[in-house]
Amino acid sequence: MNVLQTAEPDFMLEEDVVLFSDSVGKWLDEHCPPEEIERWKHDGKVPRDLWLKSGAAGLNCVSTPEEYGGMGGDYRHEVVLMRQMGWKGADHYGLSLHNAIVAPYIFHYGTEEQKQRWLPKMASGEFATAIAMTEPGAGSDLQGVKTTARKDGNGYVVSGSKTFITNGQNANLIIVVAKTDPSLGAKGTSLIVVETDDAEGFERGRNLDKIGAEGNDTSELFFNDVKVPADNIIGGGEGLGFIQLMQQLPQERLNIAVQGVAAAERGLASTLDYVKQRKAFGKSVIDFQNTQFKLAEVKTKLTVAKVFVDYCIGQHLQGKLDAATASMAKYWVTDIQCEVIDEMLQLHGGYGYMNEYPIAQLYRDARVQRIYGGTNEIMKLLIARTL
Ligand SMILES: Cc1cc2nc3c(=O)[nH]c(=O)nc-3n(C[C@H](O)[C@H](O)[C@H](O)COP(=O)(O)OP(=O)(O)OC[C@H]3O[C@@H](n4cnc5c(N)ncnc54)[C@H](O)[C@@H]3O)c2cc1C
Repeated sequence: MNVLQTAEPDFMLEEDVVLFSDSVGKWLDEHCPPEEIERWKHDGKVPRDLWLKSGAAGLNCVSTPEEYGGMGGDYRHEVVLMRQMGWKGADHYGLSLHNAIVAPYIFHYGTEEQKQRWLPKMASGEFATAIAMTEPGAGSDLQGVKTTARKDGNGYVVSGSKTFITNGQNANLIIVVAKTDPSLGAKGTSLIVVETDDAEGFERGRNLDKIGAEGNDTSELFFNDVKVPADNIIGGGEGLGFIQLMQQLPQERLNIAVQGVAAAERGLASTLDYVKQRKAFGKSVIDFQNTQFKLAEVKTKLTVAKVFVDYCIGQHLQGKLDAATASMAKYWVTDIQCEVIDEMLQLHGGYGYMNEYPIAQLYRDARVQRIYGGTNEIMKLLIARTL
């Protein structure tokens, strides 16, 4: 999609990245056509076997090394995947969370044994994954997590409840943020993996009814004294969870910014199509100067957003993306995303409010971008610390 006509940075123009982008686009056309996406929305989740299909096509764990079953790419390949999914409206499939959030925790911090045990099955789709941080009483304030993982014999017992968990209905490997020593606060926090298939005491709650992203399952999860082997703590040792989260959250925030630009690009392309064909007062809606000025503003804002996101991707590829800059991208791009999509919906008139037009879905999907991955207010707190 070249609706913004910005030049791609050189690192995105390398042949294998461009070829991968084309092949992702073709795969999505074949496996995630609009009628299939409608079915996800109706069912409140993607079919479980989609994870196996994308795995067979090599789209799971694209930035995980081949020795662990992944594609052996890097963050650029994750960007390409997220962009294509946004452009095709297939972003209700929670694959980016699996690839670019969960897999990195295991790859960067897991012991060799953990990497061998989990990553190949994530690549094949045998494991679909989620990360469970948020609880009914702890969202922004992650230190307030109440879920515990208590040492018990040669394992741990996980007890607590989580909410708003993406992929929560489909996932069978869940990274749970839990306190291994509640008396130590952040230093007593660990990331512990629960393989749910035979986990006694694990229960899925409601698939939550949301205003958008209906094709993605977002759930409550209950851990009623679930027994977990001792070697399921990521990294092997207790108390490392908070540091691991702080180190990985910048990538999660950049993902959201990448997705925000891609969704808004789709909005701009579909709005241009609409205003060119819709007539009022004997002319096309695009012929009104107000429409041109509004769309000029939209294009400018999105161009600035994309250029900044590209800069952040470049920094991230060199290991230099700091928490504050990732927070700037997350907060500013998602604010812009909501603003421009609202303007573009307005240009559709009443049709913009009808679900059959892409802009209506984009409007509903955009809203959560300012909330999850750390709210935009929390992003400003992180940025303010650098003043
Ligand atoms: C669709 C969806 C998918 C999600 N997926 C996941 C997932 O996969 N895994 C997961 O763990 N979580 C997930 N979340 C949870 C999400 O990350 C949290 O909702 C978010 O971090 C905010 O927490 P909260 O909802 O408890 O809001 P609260 O923390 O209660 O915040 C309420 C309001 O207070 C503001 N606020 C809070 N603290 C401060 C402060 N210090 N200064 C100023 N303002 C403040 C917030 O910005 C917000 O406006 C998801 C949420 C949604 C809606």
